[in-house]
Amino acid sequence: MLTNDQLDRWDRDNFFHPSTHLGQHARGESPSRIITGGSGVYIEDRDGNRLLDAFAGLYCVNVGYGRTEIADAIAEQAKQLAYYHAYVGHGTEASITLAKMILERAPKNMSKVYFGLGGSDANETNIKMVWYYNNILGRPEKKKIISRWRGYHGSGLMTGSLTGLASFHNKFDLPLSPILHTEAPYYYRRPRLDMSEADFVSHCVAELEALIDREGADTIAAFIGEPVLGTGGLVPPPQGYWPAIQKVLKKHDILLIVDEVVTAFGRLGAMFGSDKYGLEADIITIAKGLTSAYAPLSGSIFSQRMWDVLVRGTDENGAIGHGWTYSSHPISAAAGVANLLLVDSLGLVGNAGTVGAYLNAAMRDALAAHPHVGDVRGEGLLCAVEFVKDKDSRTFFDASEKLGPRLAAALLGRGVIARAMPQGDIIGFAPPLCLSRQEADIIVAAFTEAVNEVL
Ligand code: PLP
Repeated sequence: MLTNDQLDRWDRDNFFHPSTHLGQHARGESPSRIITGGSGVYIEDRDGNRLLDAFAGLYCVNVGYGRTEIADAIAEQAKQLAYYHAYVGHGTEASITLAKMILERAPKNMSKVYFGLGGSDANETNIKMVWYYNNILGRPEKKKIISRWRGYHGSGLMTGSLTGLASFHNKFDLPLSPILHTEAPYYYRRPRLDMSEADFVSHCVAELEALIDREGADTIAAFIGEPVLGTGGLVPPPQGYWPAIQKVLKKHDILLIVDEVVTAFGRLGAMFGSDKYGLEADIITIAKGLTSAYAPLSGSIFSQRMWDVLVRGTDENGAIGHGWTYSSHPISAAAGVANLLLVDSLGLVGNAGTVGAYLNAAMRDALAAHPHVGDVRGEGLLCAVEFVKDKDSRTFFDASEKLGPRLAAALLGRGVIARAMPQGDIIGFAPPLCLSRQEADIIVAAFTEAVNEVL
């Protein structure tokens, strides 16, 4: 067992942490946070602090921590067969079972699942398959992908380009050229305050139409979006947004990739966000809630329409030249099967809907009237509180004030973890889907105290 001093030193000297201020960490100016255990919605750190994890890790530990059903399934699979690949038609019982379980839960027009490891590589797969699809259809010019400002789709070269957040582009020479961005469906930050929700939807549609006109529909392959904007600020779409956008895409024969890495398997109180908003996707991206992060696994679910063209492509050109060593890793697949069974047996989709509505209402009651709270919004077990310097003009606090991190730190001091979202002074909550009303009350009470302390 390492001592605390050893852990701190070895961490600083050896470990390149993602999304971290490297200099501050290496110099020991920001603490190493070492997590040692977890049960239900709580995690424990090395000092024995028990913390309510109101962001479920990175909104992924949907069934909560310490589920022995998943741990046992992982152990059984590792003992029986730790690995075999899925190339040239190989498979395992776990991966085949999981593919069937996913399609039983997915919208009816979906047809096949390709497995990856995380949301970023799944979206990379999606872009390649969209390009392949258009090449097979004899449309080599139809390759550009439209994403939204404030969308988050990963950190790879293409997926980092799809992501519409400046902090993921800066100094990485992103976005790459085949990626275009359009208006975020962010009603609170609409361009003119006198716009109704319907006006704002028309504005988003007009922006999309103008972009398509400028570029030419015959150059645009696909549109990608999260049902509810996630890392960009936990923003549910305005009423009528998705049907209006989907109509434009259909008119121009542009494929729809619905990125459900956060929303699939219950977070919005529906099995898929596509169900909730009536989306007819050509591809759905899944990850986090697929295994509740007990092991890394993602998936790209393809519609029958796309699948038919992919099959035609291999009939004409031979085997598809795309694959990862760990596609459908059996240990992850076993975790996925056990996880989806738990989501069902614990009724977590329904719980996310009812406790999510309770959490959002309680947060609104507690904080909406605060002079610096501009917006309290959410859907299912996603909830965000956006802070403004001035409520009428919706001005931001100066970035140097680091309001988001200070609020998150004040909340952590009260034993609750939430996330300071990367753009704007927004605190996000996305707890495990097994959250109870009592635990929701703890989150709201602690956050109200934290806000009153900082502001
Ligand atoms: N897509 C969405 C909507 C996400 O929220 C994320 C991660 O948060 C990703 C893709 C990327 O997933 P990963 O971090 O597993 O690569």
